[in-house]
Amino acid sequence: MHHFEYRNGVLHAEGVPVPDIARDVGTPFYCYSTATLTRHYQVFSDAFSSMDALICYSVKANSNLAVLKTLARQGSGADIVSEGELQRALMAGMPADKIVFSGVGKTAGEMAYALDVGIHQFNVESEPELYLLSQVAQQKGMTAAVAPRINPDVDARTHKKITTGTQQNKFGLPWESAGAVCQMATDLPGIELVGLDVHIGSQLTDLEPYENAFSRVAELVRELREAGHTIDRVDLGGGLGIPYHPEDAEPPHPDQYAAMIERIIGPLNCEIILEPGRLIAGNAGIMVAEVIYVKTNGDRTFVILDGAMNDLIRPSFYDAYHQIWPVTEPAEDAVSLPIDFVGPVCESADTFAVQRMSPPYQAGDLVAFLSAGAYGAVMSSSYNSRPLIPEVLVDADRFAVTRRRPDFQEMLAGESIPDWL
Ligand SMILES: *Cc1c(COP(=O)(O)O)cnc(C)c1O
Repeated sequence: MHHFEYRNGVLHAEGVPVPDIARDVGTPFYCYSTATLTRHYQVFSDAFSSMDALICYSVKANSNLAVLKTLARQGSGADIVSEGELQRALMAGMPADKIVFSGVGKTAGEMAYALDVGIHQFNVESEPELYLLSQVAQQKGMTAAVAPRINPDVDARTHKKITTGTQQNKFGLPWESAGAVCQMATDLPGIELVGLDVHIGSQLTDLEPYENAFSRVAELVRELREAGHTIDRVDLGGGLGIPYHPEDAEPPHPDQYAAMIERIIGPLNCEIILEPGRLIAGNAGIMVAEVIYVKTNGDRTFVILDGAMNDLIRPSFYDAYHQIWPVTEPAEDAVSLPIDFVGPVCESADTFAVQRMSPPYQAGDLVAFLSAGAYGAVMSSSYNSRPLIPEVLVDADRFAVTRRRPDFQEMLAGESIPDWL
């Protein structure tokens, strides 16, 4: 469900014609829909309304300040993985006591900052991390609320680059060592064991891996309580998938996900923390690019765009599928032909789609990549010295640039040539 649709033959973002934005900010650009963001947040939070649930939007999916502010106004907390994300979340008005800190490589400096601002919880992923956090907290005379992240060793059945809950990857503590780590957390000064955390991967389209993982967590909570530990919170991570392909089966609805959680985790009487990212932001954003050239090599047709892999890396990095829509609605009887959509970057991987059946394009046409709101702008780079592309937020009939395009001078501002050269 999103608010990008054709009206009078032109793609609109809510009430705004996409070509109007292109004229104003130039191409390529990202465009986000407020109505879609808030709807996704509401559907998700409504699903958990009968539970003691804290929703911590996963900032890494889309960390634009205006997106964060939109979600903060809905009551969202944040799941952050770096000091930079923590600063963004606070700047956007997310209260510190609704912020949880995930990630395998927190530094002492990051821990100190997070303690100073008073975050809700540290999701700790290793024993050395727990020791360091204990030292940092002790030095400050403070106590860090800790939930060890358990690796439940279940296969999330998603793309290998976004599966995180098996023992072959770097995330979490081995399931078998949970008891020992919780004991360590209880014994260490400056640490308060408050709960357990799990996150098994991203773009999950099936509830079964979740159910397996959460059942293991519930079992562990019972064992830990029997061993005398206080476990008041369980953080169940994020990862619920969204439809990308028009023929994809609908992923489970948040209501089904919540019902399963209520059944498995509800009886524990814990605070439940959820960290949705893609589900909130994914379908709330598009990337718009302009056709520079149409080129044929033998029997292949290439549509060469001004957007590239450095702007939207998901197709090259995750083999991801994005629907590609012409901004001008094609005629009902337009013939489709197989087109390779590519960018100008000097890498064969700079390919968005291969032999995609599409209406014909001409230089100057605008194209929209759907479902680009999550892991789009945040993963962009200036590879090939291409400036980061702007981000625009639409709200009904108005829009605003929420990150402008840097000029070349700004792009080079941090670089200098040593005086010996
Ligand atoms: C990436 C991540 C999320 C969000 O994942 P989505 O698939 O975007 O919902 C949540 N928690 C942790 C720990 C993550 O690393």
